[in-house]
Amino acid sequence: MKDSLQLPLIDDPISTVPVLVPMPVSRAYTYAVPAGMSVQPGSIVQVPLGPRQVAGVVWDGQTDQVDPKKLRPISLVFDCPPIASDMRRFLDWVATYTLSPPGMVVRMALRAPAAFEPEPPTQGLRISDLRPERMTSARARVIEHASDGLSWTRTGLAHAAGVSTSVIDGLIKQGVFETIQIPPQPVVPGPDTAYRPADLSDDQRAAADTLLQSTANARHSVSLIDGVTGSGKTEVYFEAVAQAVDLGRQVLILLPEIALTAAFLERFERRFGCKPAEWHSDIAPRMREKVWRQVATGDVRVVAGARSALFLPFRELGLIVVDEEHDAAYKQEDRVFYNARDMSVVRAHIGRFPVVLASATPSVESQVNADDGKYRHIILPQRYGGAALPDLHLVDMRRDPPAKGGFLSPVLLQAIGKTVEKGEQALLFLNRRGYAPLTLCRVCGFRFQCPDCSSWLVEHRFRNQIQCHHCGHAQRTPEACPECGTLDHLVACGPGVERIAEEVDGHFPDARTIVLSSDMAGGVRRLRLELEAIAKGEADIIVGTQLVAKGHNFPLMTLVGIVDSDLGLSNGDPRAAERTFQLLSQVTGRAGRTGRKSRGLLQTYQPKHPVMQAIVSGDRESFYAREINERERALMPPFGRMAALIISAADRAESQAHARGLRQAAPNVGGIQVLGPAEAPLALIRGRYRYRLLVHGSKQADLQSFVARMIALGPKVRGSVRVQIDIDPQSFV
Ligand code: ADP
Ligand code: ZN
Repeated sequence: MKDSLQLPLIDDPISTVPVLVPMPVSRAYTYAVPAGMSVQPGSIVQVPLGPRQVAGVVWDGQTDQVDPKKLRPISLVFDCPPIASDMRRFLDWVATYTLSPPGMVVRMALRAPAAFEPEPPTQGLRISDLRPERMTSARARVIEHASDGLSWTRTGLAHAAGVSTSVIDGLIKQGVFETIQIPPQPVVPGPDTAYRPADLSDDQRAAADTLLQSTANARHSVSLIDGVTGSGKTEVYFEAVAQAVDLGRQVLILLPEIALTAAFLERFERRFGCKPAEWHSDIAPRMREKVWRQVATGDVRVVAGARSALFLPFRELGLIVVDEEHDAAYKQEDRVFYNARDMSVVRAHIGRFPVVLASATPSVESQVNADDGKYRHIILPQRYGGAALPDLHLVDMRRDPPAKGGFLSPVLLQAIGKTVEKGEQALLFLNRRGYAPLTLCRVCGFRFQCPDCSSWLVEHRFRNQIQCHHCGHAQRTPEACPECGTLDHLVACGPGVERIAEEVDGHFPDARTIVLSSDMAGGVRRLRLELEAIAKGEADIIVGTQLVAKGHNFPLMTLVGIVDSDLGLSNGDPRAAERTFQLLSQVTGRAGRTGRKSRGLLQTYQPKHPVMQAIVSGDRESFYAREINERERALMPPFGRMAALIISAADRAESQAHARGLRQAAPNVGGIQVLGPAEAPLALIRGRYRYRLLVHGSKQADLQSFVARMIALGPKVRGSVRVQIDIDPQSFV
C-alpha cells in the first residue's frame, strides 16, 4: 500500500533556477543547482544545452515545472560579478519593447566570453639583493633599470634596457631577479577629476551649473545640451562626468563614430589625465575582454563607446552622455533593432540616474520633449572664444552650372582657389563613396547592376572595381559592355568622392588633395592618421563623405563646399528634411571653429526648399517649428508611433505571400492602421526579396501587442522566410 503513494522526498529538495541563454529563446530555461553550488539572480553560469555547454545568466522569476528526470544541473558558476538587477530589468525591458527574444538581448550583454573568468596574473620580475658575479655593461643597464623596485615583465625589461632577453635569463639564473605574479593591470587608470578643469566661458559656466543641478542626485532626469557647433558642449558635459565620477558612479559616453574619434579620447585625457576605456567593434578581442571584465568589476570608471556599450555589465552606472544624439548611427538595424539614444533614457530611468543628450541639431523627438518640459533644455547659443559661425550661401546650380563633365560650380571653384592661396583648408562634402554611382553602356543603354541586390554597381576607380554597396559584391571594371559587346563605350554617371577629387586635381594640380571615405585602403588606422594630418594642416583640399562631418576640429578649415545639398531630400524617408538639415549643419559647422572667418557654399538645384532656406538664414527655430507642425498633423513620431515589419525570402512569391498573410492576420484595433505590404525600395538584398509592412498608430497605441498578435496569428515562418520587427523605424528602405 505504502508504495503506491510515491510522494517526492521532501528532505532532498532540488532547488531550481531560471537561466537565460544567449540564443533566440523566448524565455529562461530551468536548471537544477547542484548541492554545494551557490547562485543568485545575475550569476553567469555554464549550462548544458543539447549536446553543448553554453554560458547563460541566472534570471529572475519563477521556474517552469520540469520533469525531474529531464532536469539538468548547472555545470559551473563563473568567477564573475553577477549582472546587476538594474541591468537585468533593462534587458527584459529592451526585449519586450523591441519584441526580440530575451535570449538575443542577453546575448548582447555577454559579448566577451573569455572575460567571465578573472584574467590570470602574468609572470613578473623583481630585483633581489643578489648581484651577478661578473658585471657587464648590459647587465649593469638592466640592474639600473630594475632598481626602481617595481616589477617588470621579462621582455619589457629587456626592451627598456636595450638588451636581449638572454641577458635577463642569465641574471635570473644567478638569482639577481625573483619571479613574482603581477596582477592584471587596469586598462586605464582612474580619471582624475581635478586634473585640468576647463576654464569655462560665462555661457558655458551657466550651462554647466544648470546641468549639474539636475545631475547632482541619484534621480532620473534628461538634459538636452543644445549648442551650436563649436560652442563647447563637450567641455560642459565633462563637468557632469567629473561630478558623477566624484560621486563614485561609473559613466558611459556614447559617440556615434567612435572608431574615428581619437581626437575625443585625447580631449578626455587632457581634461582628466587619462583616456576613458574604449568600446566598439574595432577593439582587439583581448582588449574587449579586459574592458568588459573591468566594467563588471568596477575597475573601469568611464567608458566611451559605440551604441553596443549600452549593454556592458556596469555595476554602478550613474550617468550616460549621448553625444550627437540625433545621429542615425545610434539605431541598430540587425537582429535586435534598437535606438541607443532612446534605450539610454530607459536604462537611466530604471537605474534612477541622469542622462545628458548633446547636439547642435537635436532630433525632432528630443526637441519636442524639451519644448514640453520633459527634458531640461540647456542652450549654448554661441561658439566658444568668439569664433563666428561660417557665412552660408546657396549656389543655385541652375544659374551657375558647372562646366560640361564637371560637378563643381565656378563659384565654388573660385572660393576653393582663394582658400588654398591663403594657406587655409577647404572641405568638399559628398555623401557618396567611390567614383560614380552608376555605369552604363552608351551604345545599348545597359546598366551594371548587382546580381544579388536591386542596386547599381558603384565604380571605384582607385581599385579598378565596380562594387555593390549593399552586399559587397565586387568585380573588375569591365572594358566591354556585357550586353552588346561594344568596347570602350562605358560611361560613368554622376559623381562620388573620387570623381570630385579628380575634378579638383584638374583645377588645382599643386594643391594637396585627400579623399576620405570609410572604404579607403588601410581601414580605420589609416583614417585616423589622415585625420591627424588634416588637423595639422598637411592637406589643402579634403574631399569626404559623412565621416568628416562628425566631431572633428580642423583648425585651418575655413571653407566647406557641399557638392550636392539635395542628395538626401528625395528618398521617401519621412525624416528626409530633418536628416538633411542636420547633416548640412554638421558639415558646414566644421568650418571656422578656431576663429578664422569662414564660409559654407551649398550647391543646390532647389534653392527655395525649406531646408536650404533654413540653413542659409540660420533660422533653425522656424525650421523645427514647421517640421514639428507637419509631424503633428500627420501623426508622425513623436506624435504617433510606427513599427515596420520586413519580410524577406529567397523567393519573391514566398516573401509576398507571407507578407500578405501577416497583413490579413492584423487584428482590428481602433487607432492603428497597417500599410502595405509593399515591395521594399531595396527590393532585393543579398538574394533575398523584401516586402515591408508599416504599422502606424496614435501615441497611446500599444503597437507591440498589436504586432505580436499579427505574428502569432499570421502564417508560420517556414522555409527561407524571415520576419524582422523594427519598432520606431528610422530607415524605410
Ligand atoms: P561642440 O562639441 O559644441 O561642437 P567643442 O566642445 O568641440 O564644441 O568645442 C569646440 C572647440 O572649442 C574645441 O576645440 C574646444 O577645445 C574649444 N573650447 C570650448 N570650450 C572651451 C573652454 N572653456 N576652454 C578652452 N577651450 C574650449
Ligand atoms: Zn549586392
